[in-house]
Amino acid sequence: MAARVQRMSRTMLKTLRDDPADAETLSHKLLVRAGYVRRAAAGIWTWLPLGKQVLENVTRVVREEMDAIGAQEVLLPALLPKEPYEQSGRYEEYGDLLFRLKDRKGGDYLLGPTHEEIFTQVVKDQCASYKDLPVMLYQIQTKYRDEARPRSGILRGREFTMKDSYSFDVSDAALEESYRLHRQAYQRIFERLGLDYRIVSAVSGSMGGSASEEFLAPAAAGEDTFVYCPACGFAANTEAMTTAMTPVDGSGHPPVEDLDTPDTPTIETLAEHLGVPASATLKNLLVKVDGEIVAVGVPGDREVDMGKLAEHLAPAEVELVTADDFTDRSDLVRGYVGPQGGMAGKAFRYLADPRVAPGTSWVTGANKADTHARNVVCGRDFEVDQYLDVVVVEPGDPCPRCAEGITLDRAIEIGHIFQLGRKYADAFELDVLGQDGKPVRVTMGSYGVGVSRAVAALAEQTADEQGLCWPREIAPADVHVVAAGKAAQTELALEVSEQLGAAGVRVLVDDRAGVSPGVKFTDAELIGVPTILVAGRRAKEGVVEVKDRRTGEREEMPVADAVARLA
Ligand code: ATP
Ligand code: MG
Ligand code: MG
Ligand code: MG
Repeated sequence: MAARVQRMSRTMLKTLRDDPADAETLSHKLLVRAGYVRRAAAGIWTWLPLGKQVLENVTRVVREEMDAIGAQEVLLPALLPKEPYEQSGRYEEYGDLLFRLKDRKGGDYLLGPTHEEIFTQVVKDQCASYKDLPVMLYQIQTKYRDEARPRSGILRGREFTMKDSYSFDVSDAALEESYRLHRQAYQRIFERLGLDYRIVSAVSGSMGGSASEEFLAPAAAGEDTFVYCPACGFAANTEAMTTAMTPVDGSGHPPVEDLDTPDTPTIETLAEHLGVPASATLKNLLVKVDGEIVAVGVPGDREVDMGKLAEHLAPAEVELVTADDFTDRSDLVRGYVGPQGGMAGKAFRYLADPRVAPGTSWVTGANKADTHARNVVCGRDFEVDQYLDVVVVEPGDPCPRCAEGITLDRAIEIGHIFQLGRKYADAFELDVLGQDGKPVRVTMGSYGVGVSRAVAALAEQTADEQGLCWPREIAPADVHVVAAGKAAQTELALEVSEQLGAAGVRVLVDDRAGVSPGVKFTDAELIGVPTILVAGRRAKEGVVEVKDRRTGEREEMPVADAVARLA
């Protein structure tokens, strides 16, 4: 048999008629039922033969497009010492999301959730001069995050495959070019994968950067909500969108710690607890604590991430600022020192606070007028009460760019690109010698594709009632040959498979003995290879049926014609 022919009689594959009991999303149900993946524990998955092939196909596309922009593939460890993450502050910042472990001597380690720190160290070690830059490095690797709610199968794993890359440049303009190259590579990747996607502006969050965009695949199973304007094409995730919306005044809401619920609260539970207007609970909700989004959702979702919420209830970092820093009503301060030099015990929404006149000089914790004090540690330096702010974004709200009505849709985050700037370069003092012989601080970007998540996102977008329905580039085979009958059918099926394989076509052939044609047809639909070729009723005449999995169109033809058409 040609190497490209997989015989189902020799493949470890067990399909299931029923959905797994714990499955909430379509991709989860179908990938398990079609025998692509198997759950090992919550958020931890085994890739079975067909699944591994699909994952490999996605990986190949990602690798080719990264190579095409001149990025170099490396492989860093997933088991990491804690020190670099302490140095960047993320050992604490990540909170419960981080898998931490000890070695036999009691040394602290972690399983890498993302690798900015380690890449920065690698480049510090390997690159000494501006001549060594720009450099773009990537890896396709297993990542670990102890997600609060690892539901949805491989959409949100606690162990998952990510392509992460990092760019290192000597100037802001050069960083923009590296960012642009990645953006293009991502467009090509998602186009080749056959994913429907949008690029939306994003807030960079804990990565701590400036420019950032997300690649979102619209799907009902998505956990992200994004805003889109059909009139002008404006697209933003809801975090970015809040800067353009007027928040409902959230001051005076009862503390979230008081929320007493046995289970993960829903958006309604939280809204009710907060006393948010009833109309708000009916629509998409965005809950901010200390200016950071902690929950986004629509009614009926179990969206409130208590882990994330808890992190925000004890903010590790507080930024003190002057009144002049604020230009927008939705700007928020997390805490400040009052004009008399005293501590304000509570964080205020800055411009909404009548006691704050624009242009007021502020005395910071450092007792110095008109200065910023970043990274003041709350609890150590002073206390800031948590408060809540609720922003309501509804379909039909005016677009911040053109004022036409926006739409709100659910989507899966499949990729994310950041201009990090010098956050990590500063933390690790990453400099190279510049053209003038003086050291230059390096500026960085980081870029991620959810490789395993893309498999699930594709399944979400392409599946139908019968099962999975892969685009050809990603499918585990090009043609699924079904031997529907006895010896004559099996003989013909194997013969046509051989011919197709020899012509370079990847074939999965159902040559299982003792399995009825009906079961084989159902399995073929479920497995989702784009073309199904049936050796059935007219096998003895050398006539087969060629069926398009997506459209259901079928046509009978002699074997030679089928091979010619599919090769
Ligand atoms: P999410 O908002 O879904 O939690 P993220 O913003 O935390 O994702 P990033 O840190 O931006 O994720 O990581 C880059 C990419 O890795 C994401 O765009 C996503 O496609 C993928 N990814 C992140 N977390 C997971 C996960 N738990 N399982 C599978 N893929 C993931
Ligand atoms: Mg996340
Ligand atoms: Mg995200
Ligand atoms: Mg992200």
